[in-house]
Amino acid sequence: MRLASRMSTIGTESAFEVAARARALEATGRSVIHLEIGEPDFDTPANVREAAKRALDGGFTHYAPFPGIPALRQAIADDATARKRFAVTPDRVFVTVGGKGVMLNAIIGLVDPGDEVIVPDPGYPIYESLVRFVGGTPVPIPIRMNREFRLDVDELASLITPRTRMLVINSPANPTGGVLTGGDLEAIAELATRHDLVVLADEIYGRILYDGTEHHSIASLPGMADRTIVLDGFSKTFAMTGWRLGYAIVPPSLVAMYGQLIINTISCAPTFVQIGAAEALRGQQADVDAMVVEFRARRDLVVDGLNAIPGIRCLRPSGAFYAFPDVSGTGLSGAELAEKLLQDAGVCVLAGTAFGGIGTDHIRISYANSRENLGLALDRIRSVVNTLVAAAR
Ligand code: PLP
Repeated sequence: MRLASRMSTIGTESAFEVAARARALEATGRSVIHLEIGEPDFDTPANVREAAKRALDGGFTHYAPFPGIPALRQAIADDATARKRFAVTPDRVFVTVGGKGVMLNAIIGLVDPGDEVIVPDPGYPIYESLVRFVGGTPVPIPIRMNREFRLDVDELASLITPRTRMLVINSPANPTGGVLTGGDLEAIAELATRHDLVVLADEIYGRILYDGTEHHSIASLPGMADRTIVLDGFSKTFAMTGWRLGYAIVPPSLVAMYGQLIINTISCAPTFVQIGAAEALRGQQADVDAMVVEFRARRDLVVDGLNAIPGIRCLRPSGAFYAFPDVSGTGLSGAELAEKLLQDAGVCVLAGTAFGGIGTDHIRISYANSRENLGLALDRIRSVVNTLVAAAR
């Protein structure tokens, strides 16, 4: 079958493909520890599941209003006003299928062929993929370990051209766990304002922060709510990846565009799922807090364990649930080590290059797995790397 020519430009998210390969290996009887997929291993909180079940039994099985059910849009507006610290009204909230839906609409609605979009490298691969898909040009902004995985604002300024339309930021970040400071955001906001850029602010890990690190939304800075699309959702915070629910908070000038794109694509997000999500925001938050406490303990286990392995250097990230160690001291690239870990040791991680060219020396480890499995994975990684280092002597 002949595909549309634009299909030659679309990329992928290799986590899904690598996970499928790992599962195929498991099917042959091999033991594999999965550290590749970015999804909390916890169950969705019981009150959320109960609310969705009641909604199903109560007949909430029909179309919802296209921007989302009023109760959820109000809950999101209240939550965002409190946590992101800018005044959000429900009319600016759009409920989408996954956080990915927010990204898709922002890029197809705003990026013309030939427009440039600055994307983090390493960064979530779908930004770049969608920009190419619509004929735009992704311009990578390097995110380096020696800058604690925070972008360099001067370097960012040097990448802006008259064709730059949009800037994507993601804090806390996938795949590095890096968090932009309030000062970083102020400098980025100043650039965005000076050059009239739209900002897509991916804040999907905004509640997964450690050691007292605070979440700052760039939309809370003066004038920025008028040029920022905030991407957030339920997948990570509430362990609801399979529910497929995200939301956009958009400037008033983009309300009509978002509505039109939702009507043309999904019509609305599932109704009973939205009722569960309203409960997630309005109900008890103890499960989220407990999940973050557990992630922090796992982060320390993983970071300390990796740094104790010769040839591996790992920062202690302040957010999300990923470690992005530099493995160049093992003598292998991140991609080579990832392959070896899967084949020789049954540990599935991602190559840093799955997130952009800057990640060559890195692997990404998702520590959304039990401490027991993480401990076992560290033992296996240590044994593979020790063999490599010994062979190099
Ligand atoms: N943004 C980032 C940075 C992510 O890591 C992910 C998922 O891994 C998403 C967005 C997409 O989230 P969702 O599963 O809600 O579509």
